[in-house]
Amino acid sequence: MRKWDVIVVGAGHAGIEASWFASKLGVSVLVLTLSLDSIGKLSCNPAVGGVSKGTLVKEVDALGGLIAKIADKCAVGYRRLNKSKGKAVWATRAQVDRFLYPKIARSFLESQRNIKILEAKVDKILVNNRKIKGVVTNFSEAFYGNTVIICAGTFLNSKLHIGLSSFSGGRLGELSSDELFKEIKKLGFEVKHFKTGTCARLDKRTIDFSKMMEQAPHYDVEPFSFDNESTPKNQLSCFITYTNEKTHKVILKNLDRSPLYTGKIKAKGVRYCPSLEDKIVKFPQKDKHQIFIEPEGWESLEVYPNGISTSLPFDVQIDFIHTIPGLEKAEILRPGYGIEHGLISPTQLYATLESKLIRGLFFAGQVNGTTGYEEAAAQGAIAGINAALRVKKEKPFILRREQAMVGVLIDDLTTKGVDEPYRMFTSRAEFRLTLREGNADIRLTPLAYQLGIVDKAVYAKVKEKSEKIEKYIKKLKSIKVVFDKQKKFSLFEILKRPNIEFSHLKSYLDDRVPQGVLGREVEINVKYEGFIKRELAQIKNLTNIDKIKVPPSLDFSKVPSLSREVVEKLNLFKPSTLGEALKISGITPAAIVNIYNYLSSKRKRRKRRIYES
Ligand SMILES: Cc1cc2nc3c(=O)[nH]c(=O)nc-3n(C[C@H](O)[C@H](O)[C@H](O)COP(=O)(O)OP(=O)(O)OC[C@H]3O[C@@H](n4cnc5c(N)ncnc54)[C@H](O)[C@@H]3O)c2cc1C
Repeated sequence: MRKWDVIVVGAGHAGIEASWFASKLGVSVLVLTLSLDSIGKLSCNPAVGGVSKGTLVKEVDALGGLIAKIADKCAVGYRRLNKSKGKAVWATRAQVDRFLYPKIARSFLESQRNIKILEAKVDKILVNNRKIKGVVTNFSEAFYGNTVIICAGTFLNSKLHIGLSSFSGGRLGELSSDELFKEIKKLGFEVKHFKTGTCARLDKRTIDFSKMMEQAPHYDVEPFSFDNESTPKNQLSCFITYTNEKTHKVILKNLDRSPLYTGKIKAKGVRYCPSLEDKIVKFPQKDKHQIFIEPEGWESLEVYPNGISTSLPFDVQIDFIHTIPGLEKAEILRPGYGIEHGLISPTQLYATLESKLIRGLFFAGQVNGTTGYEEAAAQGAIAGINAALRVKKEKPFILRREQAMVGVLIDDLTTKGVDEPYRMFTSRAEFRLTLREGNADIRLTPLAYQLGIVDKAVYAKVKEKSEKIEKYIKKLKSIKVVFDKQKKFSLFEILKRPNIEFSHLKSYLDDRVPQGVLGREVEINVKYEGFIKRELAQIKNLTNIDKIKVPPSLDFSKVPSLSREVVEKLNLFKPSTLGEALKISGITPAAIVNIYNYLSSKRKRRKRRIYES
């Protein structure tokens, strides 16, 4: 009887990284998944990255993972988001070829000799004395393992909704894992259901793009992976159109056929990716909603109309789509649908993503209540590494909140749990300026090298980058010039000024200013030096948060920079101390810092008034 070191159930974005990282640590890995053809299938939009999600992608890459490499190999267009904001928060997003992605993902896994992949449905979990023993498939074959990682995504006890019709399925056309869900419940795990949804896919040949605005790709964006140098030459554009009053009328008229508004769908949905019907009902003052027509691949005739996710009946989908400029004759190739799926409460996991209930049983990805490929990949990396380390009886690998966005994600999940689908946001991190895309390799590759999951050449390249940045900063401090016809300043002081960019200093540096990410990192380190230091200091000041009182009359909507979600929750729960506020699910340490600053400034203002009167 063969015994595997790590058994990974599911080969979505979490399963891919979990098996890859475990195999990199030299242990034997068995991947069991429902279909070999849908390894890393992009269930929803054909895009990877975005604000803070791009940082997760780069962090997984810096650790030696796959999501960045796969995305780069099949990217059809890159864009830089947050361009109007400071360079520290620039973010990368790429449209990818949805048909190539699974092929590339599979070939990466197949390149590892110690990974075996098998098409099988896991129905049972074998446990003895609260210790994992293995799994049993739907064809009654038992596979034994020292550790098991469940990465079953949206497939646990899942139900799809199109209008008032509903049927079992993990994705349209795929099975739901009902037996596995029952097993998880039977083992004593607390479970719940969330809801998500997707839009109809349209036939490109039936769209009039001349009525839409073209959104061209950005050619100056670096690829996702730190290993790659360039992006494709001729990239594909997206196109922008809008809904209008007619669209909204069609939808409002048919709400009695919506599973969301008739109470058929009971589970909580993704707050930040609402369905079109949700947007129209919740924001009646808005007379239009933006839609991005995204390419699904280099040669695909399908396009993805991002922004019109729906679970309305098929005929209503046709009707409302035909009211949209450019889509008057659009034909649907796949209907949009809603999905309710099971998950476990992630507070039942350690920061390694091993469960507290069963030794050796790990959970990663959407099964932990997250949404998104990037969030799943990040968890897969941590679960894969730690399952292998458990087998090797080595110290666990945990990333702290100040080290990585991955650390923020896992800390939030395991300490606060989820009461709605969890998506990564920059605002969830208290060290926003430190946890950037551009320094993910400097922050994490040395740790991965110590673990033995990236090789010496990769580590040497990162070390060189880091040394170059330091050298440039030293140089900027050492060169003093007369600037603005005033007195002498160092180039470092000059670069700190708001409108000065590194490239403006070219003439003082023998015309040699590093380009791309290197130049940007030097600039960020100089410009944000003070802010970064303040970030660290603020958090250290908050050790006594249980004693810091929050006045009952405080209207949280007055506190600057709090998201609508945070304000709603705080106004509802009315915490009496900052410590109590932090315990509320969804309340980020960054939000606590904002409230603390607001209360302090109010207190100071009050003191000043008393003093002045
Ligand atoms: C309809 C829909 C809409 C979505 N909309 C959005 C969105 O708007 N925004 C967003 O960020 N994300 C969205 N997502 C979520 C996104 O697709 C997931 O977050 C991401 O794919 C999760 O990755 P994962 O690896 O956890 O799971 P998945 O990608 O779901 O992969 C799960 C894997 O587990 C396998 N599996 C399941 N059960 C078993 C079993 N019993 N035995 C063996 N293998 C099994 C499956 O075959 C699959 O390979 C949507 C998903 C769906 C289905």
